[in-house]
Amino acid sequence: MNGVDNHKRWELNYTKGLSKQTIENESVIKNMLKEIDVETDNLKIQHGVIYSVKSTLVKEWQRDNIFLAGDAAHTTPPYVGQGMAAGFRDIMNLTWKIDAVLQKQSSSSLLKTYQTERYPHARFHAHRATSFQKRLHDSLLLYEWC
Ligand SMILES: Cc1cc2nc3c(=O)[nH]c(=O)nc-3n(C[C@H](O)[C@H](O)[C@H](O)COP(=O)(O)OP(=O)(O)OC[C@H]3O[C@@H](n4cnc5c(N)ncnc54)[C@H](O)[C@@H]3O)c2cc1C
Repeated sequence: MNGVDNHKRWELNYTKGLSKQTIENESVIKNMLKEIDVETDNLKIQHGVIYSVKSTLVKEWQRDNIFLAGDAAHTTPPYVGQGMAAGFRDIMNLTWKIDAVLQKQSSSSLLKTYQTERYPHARFHAHRATSFQKRLHDSLLLYEWC
């Protein structure tokens, strides 16, 4: 994937034997890129990271005064660019409600609408990103419903 100022991002399927330590090693990364015919002589590696690609949806987003939002509540494979965006929408949905309750402009029952409104949206993007992953990698997906 091309970024600004000639930055590039490559995503490679997990290779057995890779660890956090080895993926931070520039020569390991370059060898992986050479295997897919990337010219690495003038390449400066800035960052290497291992991440797992999966969907998670937590069933309970509120307990008393504790709320889950963002990746703590839901994750998706990064194929439709909606992970962080969905987290922002959670916070936009939740913060004005907390404020309204604290200002005594609304009863605390308003807070229950947070999960009711946000959960279906998060589930939609989890399914959407997962179907993209399936098309890209033709792999079965791990769903973790906590
Ligand atoms: C390769 C890739 C590409 C992506 N591309 C996109 C994209 O194009 N668009 C998009 O919208 N999203 C994208 N995402 C998803 C996006 O990065 C995440 O959804 C987003 O960063 C989640 O934000 P968050 O604040 O909910 O969680 P996090 O970013 O995980 O932040 C949680 C923070 O809490 C800290 N923390 C954890 N435990 C504790 C503790 N006990 N005490 C204090 N602090 C703690 C962590 O260190 C971390 O800083 C991508 C993700 C990946 C992996």
